[in-house]
Amino acid sequence: MNDSPPEIRPPAPAAAPRAPAAAGARAARAFADLHLHSLFSDGTFTPEELAGHGARCGLAAMALTDHDTVEGCPRMAVACGRLGIEFLPGAELTAELDGSELHILGYFLDQKNPKLQTDLKKFQAVRQNRIHEIVARLNRQHIPLRAETVFALANCHSPGRPHVGRALVQEGFCASLDEAFDRFLKKNRPAYVPKFKISALEAIALVHQAGGLASMAHPGLNRSDEAIPALAASGLDGLECFHSKHTPAMTEYYLEMAARHHLLVTGGSDCHGYSKGKPLIGGVKLPVVHYDRLQGHYRAKVLRMVNGE
Ligand code: AMP
Ligand code: ZN
Ligand code: FE
Ligand code: FE
Repeated sequence: MNDSPPEIRPPAPAAAPRAPAAAGARAARAFADLHLHSLFSDGTFTPEELAGHGARCGLAAMALTDHDTVEGCPRMAVACGRLGIEFLPGAELTAELDGSELHILGYFLDQKNPKLQTDLKKFQAVRQNRIHEIVARLNRQHIPLRAETVFALANCHSPGRPHVGRALVQEGFCASLDEAFDRFLKKNRPAYVPKFKISALEAIALVHQAGGLASMAHPGLNRSDEAIPALAASGLDGLECFHSKHTPAMTEYYLEMAARHHLLVTGGSDCHGYSKGKPLIGGVKLPVVHYDRLQGHYRAKVLRMVNGE
C-alpha cells in the first residue's frame, strides 16, 4: 500500500433546496433515476445538489450509486426527504466475468453492514493505490503530475480515473477530460491501469448479505449478454434496461431479456455532473412502475426473512 491520500475534508452541504410546489404529489411524478454519482466518488454534484436537480426534473424516486462507497447516502436521504422524493441507498461495484468488466448496482444496502463496510474500504484502498500507479505511468510519459494533486482534487475515499483526468486538465497537461482519456487513461493507453475486480457472483453475494438487491448496470456497454441467464439463475435481481448510453432499441432488447429471465427492471442516467452544459440527471426516464416493483420485491424479501423462510 502506498501513502494514503491527504485527510479528506467532507464536502460542505449546499443550502437545503426548497421543495417545489408539487412536493408530495407522488401521483404527478412518473419517473425515477436510480443511477447517480456524487462527489463522494467521481460525480461533481453534492448529494443536496443531486436531490435539487431531481426535484426540478419532477422525479418520484432517486438512488445514489457512487462507485465503491455509500458515504453520500445519509445526506442524500435527508435532502430527498425534504423534497418529497423517495430515496434508495445504493452503490456501484466493479466486477469481472470471464475477463470482461461489468458493474453491479446494489440497492437497499444496509450501510452499517460490517462486511459491506470492510469490503468497500478494501476497494477504496485499491482505488487509492491505483491512482499512484496511474500517476507513475504518466510520469514515465514525461507528464509531471503529482498524486497529491489528484487526491486533493478528488477529496474523497473512492478516487478514480475521472479525477486523474480532471487533474490533468487543471494542471494544463490536457485541454479536456475527453483528451485525458483518449491520450492517457482509457484501455490500451499508456497510463491505463486495470482495476482489481471481484467476480460478478461475489459482487451479487456482497449486495445480498448487506440486505440489498443487485442489478447489472448498463448491460449495453458490457460484453456479457450471454452471461445474463446464468447470473439471473444465480441470484441477480435486476437489469438496468434504461441508461443514458442505451439506444431505444437496446432498451427494448433488455426489457425483453429482463422479462424472459424474471429480472426486475432498473434504470438511470448515470449522471456524473454536467454533460454538454446540462445535468444528465432526469435524462433517462425509468417509469415509476419499475421502481414500485423493485420496492415490492424488497418488501417481500424482508417479510420472508422476518418470517424465517
Ligand atoms: P474507474 O472506475 O476509475 O475505472 O473510472 C471509470 C469512470 O470513468 C466511469 O464511471 C466514467 O465516469 C469515467 N469514464 C470512463 N471512460 C471515460 C471516457 N472515455 N471519458 C470520460 N470519462 C470516462
Ligand atoms: Zn463513474
Ligand atoms: Fe458503470
Ligand atoms: Fe455509474
